[in-house]
Formats: sequence, C-alpha cells, structure tokens
Amino acid sequence: EPVGERVELSDLPLREDLRGRTPYGAPQLDVPVRLNTNENPYPPSADLVAEVVAEVAEVAGELHRYPDRDAVALREDLAAYLASSTGVPLTAANLWAANGSNEILQQILQAFGGPGRTALGFEPSYSMHPIIAAGTRTEWSPTPRRADFSLDVGRAAEIVAERAPDVVFVTSPNNPTGQSVPVADLKVLISAAPGIVVVDEAYAEFSSRDSAVALLEEFPEKLIVSRTMSKAFAFAGGRLGYLAAAPAVVDALLLVRLPYHLSALTQVAARASLRHADETLGSVALLAAERDRVVEALAGLGFDVVPSDANFVLFGWFEDARAAWRSYLEHGVLIRDVGIAGHLRVTVGTPEENDAFLAASKEVGR
Ligand code: PMP
Repeated sequence: EPVGERVELSDLPLREDLRGRTPYGAPQLDVPVRLNTNENPYPPSADLVAEVVAEVAEVAGELHRYPDRDAVALREDLAAYLASSTGVPLTAANLWAANGSNEILQQILQAFGGPGRTALGFEPSYSMHPIIAAGTRTEWSPTPRRADFSLDVGRAAEIVAERAPDVVFVTSPNNPTGQSVPVADLKVLISAAPGIVVVDEAYAEFSSRDSAVALLEEFPEKLIVSRTMSKAFAFAGGRLGYLAAAPAVVDALLLVRLPYHLSALTQVAARASLRHADETLGSVALLAAERDRVVEALAGLGFDVVPSDANFVLFGWFEDARAAWRSYLEHGVLIRDVGIAGHLRVTVGTPEENDAFLAASKEVGR
C-alpha cells in the first residue's frame, strides 16, 4: 500500500471549483489496433531516429545547463515551416512554442483569461478547451453547433458580439466532428469578437482549406493560430505545440510561461523532426485518401458519417455508443467514445489498421 494512501482526494483542501471533476484522458490500452487519439500511425523513419539520437547525444553533454529559455532556433525553424506552408512571411517573433498545444492554450488563458473573464467555444469541440478554462478559472461559455455539427457563422458572430467573451476558441478542423471553417467565415467571427480569437488548427495539415494564418496581418490584435506537431508531424511523444500571432502576443505569453519550459532534448528533437518535414508530411496525402476510403466504406455499411477534412471520422448512429465502443474493443480495435450521443470517433490509421476497423464495423453493426 503506497505511503499516505489513507488520505483521499475529498480530504484535501482542493479548490471548490475543482471538486467532483474527472481528469481528461482516453484509455491507454494495449490493443492491436489503436485508433483513438488522432496520432499519425507511421513511426519516424530510421533516418530521423538516427538524427534525433545524434542531436540528443550532443546536447546530453550540456544537460548541466538550462536550455535556451526562448527556444529561438526552434521558433525560427517553425516560422520557416509555417511561412512556406501558408505563404505568410512569419519570423521567429511571430512564433511561440510549448510542450504540446495544450500548454500553448493554457498559456493563452493564463494571459488573456482568468478570474472574472470568459472564454467561449462552439460545442461539441475539443474537450480540453473547457478543462483548461476551468484550470485557469476562466468562465466557460459554451455555444452549440448545428445538429449536423457545422458552424452557423452568422448566428455564432451574433452570440460572440452579444456575450463579448475575452477569448473565443474556434477549432478548425473541429475535433471530434471533422469539419473546418472557411477563412471568410473566420473573418466574420473575428470581426465580431471584442477580444482574442484562438483558431485551434491542430489538424490543419490534413485539411485542404487555407489556414487562418492568412488573417494575421489583418487582425494582429485579436488572432492567435495554434498548431501542433502531435498529429501530421508524427511527434505526439515529443510534445511540441506552437502558435503564430503578432509579436506582442508572444510578449504577453512570456509573462506567464515557466522559465525553461521546453527542455533542451525537446528543442533539438523537434528541430530534427522539422528538418524531415517533407518526408513526414508525405504521409498526409495517404492518410487523407484513407480517410475518404473509410468514410465511403462506413457509409456503405449504413452508418451516418460526418464529413471530415481531418485524420479522424465521427460516425453513428448507435443505440448505445458505449456498448458499441466496448464491442470494437473486443474485436481488438480501440476507438473513441467522445461523449456525443449515438456517435463514436475513429482515427485514420494505416491501410491495414483501417481494414481491421472496417471488418470490426461489419461485426459491430449499429
Ligand atoms: N487541439 C486539438 C483540437 C486537439 O485535438 C489536440 C489533441 N487531441 C490538441 C489541441 C492538443 O494536442 P497536443 O497537446 O498534443 O499538441
């Protein structure tokens, strides 16, 4: 029995507003086919692994020193990648990086949210947005999407203008539903917002739509575009998220970030991964084609499938989504119950994994 186990959570002087909450987290189960956390199914190449190892070996000799606190070289590399993929001339001053985009989002709410402030999101969406709001004591203001999970932009802009939240989250493509928001619609929303608008583009590389980065020149005082290397970049284990914004936004985040938050190991591994971007992102086209194949096959089996331009698909309708999730698991396929009635979400995997998922889908039925 671990030391101190006689004390329970309810015995601790926990903040009242955290009592009764459950931690975020999908089950991490050892199952043959894991399609539940929207990772890239392809591991890093042997070349990339060798480069990471060599870089780590080099910095290992300097681990007695703190890393570059402002991660300047990494931010330069991120700026070069994002500038070349969006055509917007970004520099390191426009980029900020942290341990996953979750930490980016947390820093944003630490700086622009907090007690007495409000953040608004269009639900269902990424469930960490309200959790990070809770952790930073930012009041959460949920706003529903249409029944088909699309965003009614006219209505959304009205609500944003009316409630005047300090921070608005727009997830594009939206997790867990899959659709993205056109830049013209984002413009309407940002125009209506009095405060900060965070466009969470964790899945941008899988989408054929333009990035919100194109709007930074027009809305430097409002817009923050958040990105991650966890998905298309196949770097989920490396933990590297980033944002693009006006340099003043980065100045704001410097006030709340912990010093040396990005380890020297993280910084060099992420830079090595960025040098292999072309190779890694080569899998994106294949995954997009596989996504379309999965969508079509599911529809062929009689499922309702929500259109997606990300690397996952939301589908239903299940009388009992929880039971269906368990049934997939019994077939060796781990997918995600995202808490949307009648629906489950599957991440697009390798062709073999997708075949296994589709075979299980035939068995599970609706
Ligand atoms: N935003 C969205 C929309 C996501 O789906 C995720 C991961 N599930 C994240 C942010 C955070 O990912 P990470 O911290 O790995 O960058």
